[in-house]
Amino acid sequence: MKEEIRQAKEVIWLNPDLRPVAEAGDCELTMADIDDAEARLARFASFIRKRFPETEEQGGLIESALTEIPRMRDLINEKYGSRLEGRLLLKQDSHLAIAGSVKARGGIYEVLKHTEELAFASGILKETDDYAKLDAPECRSLFGQYTIQVGSTGNLGMSIGIMSAAIGYRVIVHMSADARQWKKDLLRSHGVTVVEYEADYSEAVKNGRRQSDQDPKSYFVDDENSRNLFLGYAVAAKRLVGQLEEKKVRVDEEHPLFIYIPCGVGGAPGGITFGLKQVFGDAVHCFFVEPVQAPCMLVGMASGLNNNICVQDIGLTGMTHADGLAVGRPSGFVGGVMKPVLSGEFTIRDGKLYDYMRDLLETEDIFLEPSACAAFQGPVRLQKSGETKRYIAEHHLEDKMKNTAHIAWATGGSLVPEEIREEYKNTFI
Ligand SMILES: *Cc1c(COP(=O)(O)O)cnc(C)c1O
Repeated sequence: MKEEIRQAKEVIWLNPDLRPVAEAGDCELTMADIDDAEARLARFASFIRKRFPETEEQGGLIESALTEIPRMRDLINEKYGSRLEGRLLLKQDSHLAIAGSVKARGGIYEVLKHTEELAFASGILKETDDYAKLDAPECRSLFGQYTIQVGSTGNLGMSIGIMSAAIGYRVIVHMSADARQWKKDLLRSHGVTVVEYEADYSEAVKNGRRQSDQDPKSYFVDDENSRNLFLGYAVAAKRLVGQLEEKKVRVDEEHPLFIYIPCGVGGAPGGITFGLKQVFGDAVHCFFVEPVQAPCMLVGMASGLNNNICVQDIGLTGMTHADGLAVGRPSGFVGGVMKPVLSGEFTIRDGKLYDYMRDLLETEDIFLEPSACAAFQGPVRLQKSGETKRYIAEHHLEDKMKNTAHIAWATGGSLVPEEIREEYKNTFI
């Protein structure tokens, strides 16, 4: 198995440390922390709604649709022989307002949390105020004295950059070599300073952190360690409860829920998984998907070395068309939290990202960016691969699979410009 990872083959890894929730032990974060994050997002809703009219319909909450995709399910079974039972749904974080990716959860939440702290400390805001007042010129000029910085492969920079600029901060985004040009251009159009690096994501983060530390009025959003980002992502789980009810999807011992989330450094899939395990316990089974050349979380968890190992250490390049997942070293914090709760991991070849992208467009007329399409590796392989069949058997799920709901977590895509979409549609590798 280890050899297959080194050779950049597609693998399925089951987490030997997965425990029933009751035995998982204490985590430094709890449901109360997720509740707190959810309440903070609610306090900011009036501000967001004012600044971003596209959120008006949802009252200033940034939330995405959960959509059943039965034609994609049928195609998967016919084209790939997947024998997938149950219902297949798509969580469309690809279409989240403001940032067009899952980063609109964690990234925006962290900027808001920091903003609230600054505003409380300076006396311009109380928790009981209408936060729409933060849009006033005197507030904006206060925030204008501060800088927000972040290292990013693209999407995190877009969510932090757009929201920070809207509040009035100076913003510097440190972009790794993988970041797409159109993402840099879009940020610059919002007045964000984009610093470009020849190196990978870890290097961009390191430099950004160093620059920010030198400036007492600068705040660094630390994707590798941030509890705030993580909690912003975790709120997704609470909001999913109502959406599942609406779709008449039951989740309990007899009705398991399978989730597949593309993973980069681990914050987004980790936070969502943490939230889902809090809400649904042992009834939910969470899997990450990573590119064969950049399976950093897999390498960290399977070796037990966590963030003390990177993919280059085992001879992989870290290079992938999935720019959102192009990360060589995982978050040590997330790896630790995931140890008893993550069910396992799938890896995927780059070529398949584009196949699944075209499949979804053809069957459901929904566009996702290549990184997000990694999610489909889960439903495609779950019920036809030896490892995952064994997982299903060991968890006594065989006769429950027909009652199962599968959610492919679509992590990005709606902001991709038309000409880039055309390029993607015609990419065959
Ligand atoms: C960032 C990102 C992910 C993964 O999130 P991490 O927090 O880096 O693990 C997945 N898909 C897309 C499109 C992303 O931008």
